Amino acid sequence: MADPLHERDLAPAALDLVAKAAGPYLETLPGRLVRDPAADVLFDRLGGPLPERGDGTLASVEELIEVGTRAATASSGPRFFHFVVGGATPAAQAADWVTSLLDQVSGIWAASPFATEAETVVLGWLKDLFGLPDSYGAVLTPSATFANLTALACARHWWAQQHGVDVAADGLVGLPQLPVLASGYVHPSNRKALQILGCGRDTIRVCARDDAGRVDIDAMERALIEIDGPAVIIASAGEVDSGDFDPIDALADLAERYGAWLHVDGAFGLFAAASPRLRHLVGGIERADSVTGDGHKWLNVPYESGFVFVRDAAIMGRAFGAWNAPYLPGAGDTHLNYGALGPESSRRARALPIWATLRAYGRSGYRAMIERHNDLALRLSVLVEEAADLELLAPVRLCVVCFRYCPRPAPTGQDIDVDVDELNRRIGAEILEDGRVYLGTTVYRGRVALRPAIVNWRTTEADIEFLAAVVREIGARIEAEMRGNTGPATDRPVE
Ligand SMILES: *Cc1c(COP(=O)(O)O)cnc(C)c1O
Repeated sequence: MADPLHERDLAPAALDLVAKAAGPYLETLPGRLVRDPAADVLFDRLGGPLPERGDGTLASVEELIEVGTRAATASSGPRFFHFVVGGATPAAQAADWVTSLLDQVSGIWAASPFATEAETVVLGWLKDLFGLPDSYGAVLTPSATFANLTALACARHWWAQQHGVDVAADGLVGLPQLPVLASGYVHPSNRKALQILGCGRDTIRVCARDDAGRVDIDAMERALIEIDGPAVIIASAGEVDSGDFDPIDALADLAERYGAWLHVDGAFGLFAAASPRLRHLVGGIERADSVTGDGHKWLNVPYESGFVFVRDAAIMGRAFGAWNAPYLPGAGDTHLNYGALGPESSRRARALPIWATLRAYGRSGYRAMIERHNDLALRLSVLVEEAADLELLAPVRLCVVCFRYCPRPAPTGQDIDVDVDELNRRIGAEILEDGRVYLGTTVYRGRVALRPAIVNWRTTEADIEFLAAVVREIGARIEAEMRGNTGPATDRPVE
């Protein structure tokens, strides 16, 4: 029997195993396949029945390292451009190990004054980095989805208060539907948050003036006049398909005029605020009632790391606190209990990697990285525009490049004779199968598009050039296949 009590002396040796594996893994990370489907056979080694006796500490950790370092997706490497996924800076990664070493419970001050203090410090630093007033309330969350959930729960609490209801105590019964307005840029996680909050996933009134989803300010104003009461506006700072931004200042004007709550989802776009060159993209952010950001994206700290800032700090405690359990801190507690300011109760000390990375690289380090990524996105857009077989679909704002593979006209001079959407769908699937670079597809303005996001601290110009070359190579191959399969376009039926 492998009782952990009998193996307590093995703890340092187990950690040593991880430390020894780290060097070789990180050394190969930049050049390895982002995903190697051939390693999927290793998944078998994860399975089997629940061990009866247990293999013991070292054997178990050795097995996980062996399988993990071969079967893991290199999503923390420089050639993972899918979704919006950052890596882990050296300081953040090491501090994440420290977080596990110390294993702090950070929801309750009494359980770890140290973790609470660290969280207060990093939330202050983040407000400073993003140019948000220090008076904002804030809490670390596991993700931007949870940050949006936290923000919208606060908004819901504020709105119910205006209707004379304490929604935390009494729920939604008797209240009308929460009016929520957004442009077409609104991220699905906001819908998920509304769904969880009992406000309904499909209740958002989308005010868009075109098929890209750009906000229609006049339509939003008309809707606010019609609602004639408290409402919630969700602004998107960084839309995931094109990387575009809602005009936050204009939405803040509307919110001010009609007494609405302005929530800004800036999961990755908020980081523009850290660069004087890019800050204009989030102009007006300091007028928001709540703001979401994601640490595991552009801060490049390990998963799970998000944060939310709320103008009315007191509302967070009202929306999430007061469990009325005698063993927990009560309303009279003078200490900050972060578990009472958001949806989590017990939680890891996710402040520590944030602390370490901000201490290590500072404001100027982050500014340099964010501007470098913006330069790389612009560089990729130039490569796309220079290539006869690629087409840029949206101007680059920050770190997302929305483009597609576009075949040259058919030799006969007719229109393009392959289905370009189908072609790009197949290119997207083949890129993931191929594994040298990783990026996703979307449908932008009715067209299937590729949309790499550049937010990993390791990514360099060589990776960007490699990305473009791989897309062109795979694109040409699949185009040839499709032409071979379908033959040249013709009005005559196939004989
Ligand atoms: C990524 C993203 C989210 C969700 O973030 P998670 O960390 O995956 O929960 C929300 N909003 C925007 C704009 C995003 O880009």
